[in-house]
Amino acid sequence: MTNLFQFPVDREASSAAKVRALEALLIEKGVIGSDSVDAVLEHFETMAGPFNGAKIVARAWVDPAFKQRLVADTPAAIAELDLPPGMAGAEGEHMAAVANDEAVHNLIICTLCSCYPWPVLGLPPYWYKDPVFRARGVREPRAVLKEFGVEVPAAKEVKVWDSSAQIRWFVVPERPANTDHLSETQLAALVTPESMMGVALVASPAAA
Ligand code: FE
Repeated sequence: MTNLFQFPVDREASSAAKVRALEALLIEKGVIGSDSVDAVLEHFETMAGPFNGAKIVARAWVDPAFKQRLVADTPAAIAELDLPPGMAGAEGEHMAAVANDEAVHNLIICTLCSCYPWPVLGLPPYWYKDPVFRARGVREPRAVLKEFGVEVPAAKEVKVWDSSAQIRWFVVPERPANTDHLSETQLAALVTPESMMGVALVASPAAA
């Protein structure tokens, strides 16, 4: 899906080069320490990321009562789990979960900029900030979903949730078939960040 919105193919390498130059300059001028960037990276590798969201989704799949609480009061339900500290911290103050089911498919977006639930999903992918994605996701969500490979049946409703500084949405995808024998940890390993944004389904392990 990397070229969905026609970015130059060297976009990642070019951004990385700019970031390295900026980092070197900031360190040289004493604005940040040489360990500052490492600390931020470690935070997103170990504390805030889609590995947290995957645990939340897996719990919702195995525990219907938890799923109900998660949708009703997302921060309170998340606080029940053994997750790293900071689930209500930066960019996660007001998170809200919406659950896919047989009648509804949910898609999250930020029409204004790139608001995203950092504690449970980490940092948003670059295409999430793309003006084309943001505009088309609202105007023709079914067409955009189809380009991501998700064909939502006509009988199924598509709901688009606009994240903002006040509220940050994430999706509890549907549990795939042929997963009755899996443990909660094995289930969490199936859950992708894209599925928690609503631009992908969670694949059944038998079909993978
Ligand atoms: Fe935003």
